[in-house]
Amino acid sequence: MKRRTGQDRTITDTWRPATRAIRGGTVRSEFGETSEAIFVTSGYAYDCAGDAAARFAGEQEGMTYSRLQNPTVEMLEHRIALLEGAEACRTMASGMAAMTAVLLSQLQAGDHVVAGRAAFGSCRWLVDNLLPKFGIATTVVDARDPQQFIDAVRPETKVFFFETPANPTMDVVDLRAVCTIARERGITSVVDNAFATPALQRPMEFGADVTAYSATKMMDGQGRVLAGAVCGTKDFIDNTLLPFTRNTGPTLSPFNAWVVLKGLETLDLRIRRQSENALKVGAFLEGRVARILHPGLPSHPQHELAMSQMEASGPIFAFEVEGGRAMAHGLLDALQLIDISNNIGDSRSLMTHPASTTHASVTPEKREEMGIGEGMLRLNVGLEDPADLIDDLDQALRTIGL
Ligand SMILES: *Cc1c(COP(=O)(O)O)cnc(C)c1O
Repeated sequence: MKRRTGQDRTITDTWRPATRAIRGGTVRSEFGETSEAIFVTSGYAYDCAGDAAARFAGEQEGMTYSRLQNPTVEMLEHRIALLEGAEACRTMASGMAAMTAVLLSQLQAGDHVVAGRAAFGSCRWLVDNLLPKFGIATTVVDARDPQQFIDAVRPETKVFFFETPANPTMDVVDLRAVCTIARERGITSVVDNAFATPALQRPMEFGADVTAYSATKMMDGQGRVLAGAVCGTKDFIDNTLLPFTRNTGPTLSPFNAWVVLKGLETLDLRIRRQSENALKVGAFLEGRVARILHPGLPSHPQHELAMSQMEASGPIFAFEVEGGRAMAHGLLDALQLIDISNNIGDSRSLMTHPASTTHASVTPEKREEMGIGEGMLRLNVGLEDPADLIDDLDQALRTIGL
């Protein structure tokens, strides 16, 4: 290893975010490659038996096995930590691996969790099904109202778990208020920041203890790989998260880590342009559909709060058409440019019907409680010319008589 740019905190701490996104975490081999190398190796060789013993004893720096460390994966972890402004980061094989690890690593039977009711379907499944199975009680609240967190707290409450903006209703959580409530009570706040990413929102600046990511979404940004990440203090990552992940193995592959490293280089550009495009498409839809839920539009009831904690409103929003599932499916089927796809954060525009896809595993009663109606559609606005997206939506709406 020749040039350890991005490893030396005395240098990288002075870098501004755009520089961190391009160079943060880079470690060069003796070949001096400009783009990060992909280290496809499961193990590492030692110069002598004593070195192996010293490394296992934690007395010598270096890698031992790729479930535990890998140079490409570590470059990504350094880069995300730098963008987040966090002491440490560990990546995982997917966003759900990250969410599962962040919860199970710090909870045990008898503990209690308060979670936002509007959430990614699998995050709700963890809260409603997995945690209770291991004797961890959970309460879901309307996370838009900080008082509901206060009312739900019990002596055994250990974690607040929520996303903002939330999938797919775009509920916004007052980060400062809710993280302060947690902090005052010794509760760990865990924020799923997938929709905003550190390019638009850094929850730790508002007092969050831990941020967790699906890096599959905006961080990759081009719909290629699954990846996840958890950021926190060095103490939390080393002493709470790592004992769990090192032994259970939700490890990110070096190739997928490399793809996300490349994605981060353009994250800021993409998310800002996609946010602008989403505002244009949202403004068009506002006059044509029954209801639009877009935190960047003044019509969103939490618009001011959203814009006080986010630098831009992001590429994703939801809207409702009258006529329920039949009309929503009809609109999807009439699209010619925008793809019917349940992914988000892609540079392509994608639309899905949450009630029959991402949130189909949630019971109709729970969907109702989460605010997901049968006529709701979720749109990820990509990097195409927004005028083409508006044309496509216009013709599709006319096809179903709207
Ligand atoms: C996609 C998503 C997840 C899950 O991430 P995967 O990478 O698909 O496992 C979790 N939370 C939110 C908010 C998401 O959008």
